[in-house]
Amino acid sequence: MTQSLTNLVGLNRDQLIAVLASIDEKPFRAKQLWHWMYHRGVTSFDDMTNIGKPLRAKLQEGFYVGRPEIVEALVSNDGTRKWLLRLEDGNEIETVMIPDDGRGALCVSSQVGCTLNCDFCNTGTQRLVRNLTSAEIIGQILVARDQMQEWPSGVEGRILTNIVMMGMGEPLMNFDNVKTALNITMDGEGLAISCRRITLSTSGVVPMMERAGHEIGVDLAISLHAPNDELRDVLVPINKKYPLDVLLTACASYPGARNARRITMEYVMIKDLNDSPEDARKLVSLMRKYKIPAKFNLIPFNPWPGTNYECSTNNAVHRFSKILNDEGYSAPIRKPRGRDIMAACGQLKSASENKKLLERQAKQQQKIVSDVA
Ligand code: SAH
Ligand code: SF4
Repeated sequence: MTQSLTNLVGLNRDQLIAVLASIDEKPFRAKQLWHWMYHRGVTSFDDMTNIGKPLRAKLQEGFYVGRPEIVEALVSNDGTRKWLLRLEDGNEIETVMIPDDGRGALCVSSQVGCTLNCDFCNTGTQRLVRNLTSAEIIGQILVARDQMQEWPSGVEGRILTNIVMMGMGEPLMNFDNVKTALNITMDGEGLAISCRRITLSTSGVVPMMERAGHEIGVDLAISLHAPNDELRDVLVPINKKYPLDVLLTACASYPGARNARRITMEYVMIKDLNDSPEDARKLVSLMRKYKIPAKFNLIPFNPWPGTNYECSTNNAVHRFSKILNDEGYSAPIRKPRGRDIMAACGQLKSASENKKLLERQAKQQQKIVSDVA
């Protein structure tokens, strides 16, 4: 039904004003609509009480306030929540909410699948790839607010306080839509989440990093994962195009990076591959060489069906963290969260694809059996 209608979610201010002009409405209506959509979480024009009935009827004819549809909602016994969402074209993505001591980060996806094929990442193994629209990116935040019952506004008491662009996909390969979505997320009249509470993680799409700093201005995280090109070429293949020297030079000049606003170096800990004391010391010397205001985030590798990698031992992870700490770098170890609901990026979706595949195979099998019989 919504197919010929236009979704008002995800349009930037100018686009919304243009859309309103097309139905002879003044620009101030954009502010009203944003208020209802992003402060109050309203999805029906009928609930927009300061908009007169004739305009509500006009809006109903051409537009809608859309959300991805929830296919599966899971809650882990550690409080992590995960939603498998279906987009209008039938593709599925996932969004994960990680509560932590009265606050919480929503892990938002930027693409269906990912073209970059990092060896240890389940998302990289998925076949289908397309960029998410800004509506689909922002829709994930709206769904989370719906589900957490965090409408209307009132920052006090909210759990969804932070956004991390660390779900499925590479955000800097979908720059324009990510930019539009995050600018609405940060806008005081939009979702009003401060840029200091938003982190964008990239595997190292160097040409877009400077633009991200200037045009989006959120905190940056780099999926580093290896202290030398030889290993990084294997784990994060985009390294062949933008090797460590180029990547770390770009980090050193990331707009806004300073000691009070450090770049997070994500480091997935894989057993006997990148977790030795020498590796930790090499990381320290790289950060010093390139003068990067850095902090580390050590992520125990989250295994998925079919991977050849294993998670480092507890001892190795703690030893690694201590070496970085002793050299003056913060290096917290990320708690594995939501393992019972497969909360690492890409896992639920892969499980869902596998389920579909199995169902298809079972149906085919039945058909063969009935054909024969
Ligand atoms: N494409 C972006 C953002 C999404 S991935 C990027 O690569 O930065 C978010 C983070 O999760 C990245 O640091 C990624 O390397 C890490 N990651 C992916 N698969 C993982 C796994 N199985 N276990 C632990 N971390 C993983
Ligand atoms: Fe893509 Fe990031 Fe996964 Fe690499 S780690 S395949 S860039 S989502």
